[in-house]
Amino acid sequence: MSKEPLLGKDLKQLSTIALEIGLKPYAAKQIANWIYIKQVHNIEEMTNIPLAKRKILQQQYCIGRTKPVQSVQSIDGTIKYLFKTTHGHVETVYLPDGDRHTLCVSSQVGCKMGCKFCMTGKNGWQGHLTADEILNQIYSINESALLTNLVFMGMGEPFDNTTEVLKALTVLTSEWGNKLSARRITVSTVGVMPGLINFINNSECHLAISLHTPLPQQRAEIMPIEKAYPIHNIINTLQKYDFAHQRRLSFEYILFKGYNDTPRHAVQLVKLLKNIPCRVNLIKWHTIEGVDMHKTTIEDLEKFRDYLNNNGIICTIRKSRGEDIAAACGQLKNQTNLT
Ligand code: SF4
Repeated sequence: MSKEPLLGKDLKQLSTIALEIGLKPYAAKQIANWIYIKQVHNIEEMTNIPLAKRKILQQQYCIGRTKPVQSVQSIDGTIKYLFKTTHGHVETVYLPDGDRHTLCVSSQVGCKMGCKFCMTGKNGWQGHLTADEILNQIYSINESALLTNLVFMGMGEPFDNTTEVLKALTVLTSEWGNKLSARRITVSTVGVMPGLINFINNSECHLAISLHTPLPQQRAEIMPIEKAYPIHNIINTLQKYDFAHQRRLSFEYILFKGYNDTPRHAVQLVKLLKNIPCRVNLIKWHTIEGVDMHKTTIEDLEKFRDYLNNNGIICTIRKSRGEDIAAACGQLKNQTNLT
């Protein structure tokens, strides 16, 4: 019988386990400290828990840490890791950039959303990651202690797996967990409304919306989610929340040559976003096999950015990373090896 992982459990669940094995409830905080701060690999290492109780704990539970099965490094320093999970393999991308060390985390094995420009979407959905499988990506890479920022922009749609994503975020940001500032974590979504609302009400992490075109009909062509949750409804909903202070709202926009990079798109984008405090991140398109889209020129990208900036929308061009190892935006896939 496989053992249940302690990783991903909140303080209440750990208290229940502590009581079950005859420990005082305060032992839950000690166990949480071993798992989330000291990040031990084995229950035996929890030396302030009596040996006899550790032995009982071990009969039913494990920490839940597993090393990546493969890794590959880009010429720009980006590292792509492959993890084996219950439903298949997922990729996780480490992005060092000066003092900033970001990890792009996956939330599902594959994805159901079917965005036309995304390799993960093309390969379909195999299953949800559990909170421990999400957290394991963060704890089990060599660079774990260096991480300054986390982005939930890897494989999967986080708000199609909101319960497990919220559990992982709770562990990461709680006083009894990793004590990470919510301002260091960004969760990205195509706009799955129920999960989005649940997230806004229960987490303080930053939010990023994958937009990619301000025109609803065109968005529906490349992002099927538009038919279920139109972007106008998403924006109307977001306007009811505070994004003018600590929590940041950003919109991700991949530019495709001649498709969504025209002056008309820039004008419509300003119209769409003018009443909501936000920023726009422009992303260069990275070619994916079987997708007939093309890269916008750097001149057109800069023109697009300048139009937005000149019309009241903070806009930046996101640095392209890890393209040589297929670790860039939209290139992740659930295969059993990284090459
Ligand atoms: Fe899923 Fe995101 Fe890819 Fe869309 S872009 S198919 S939501 S992983």
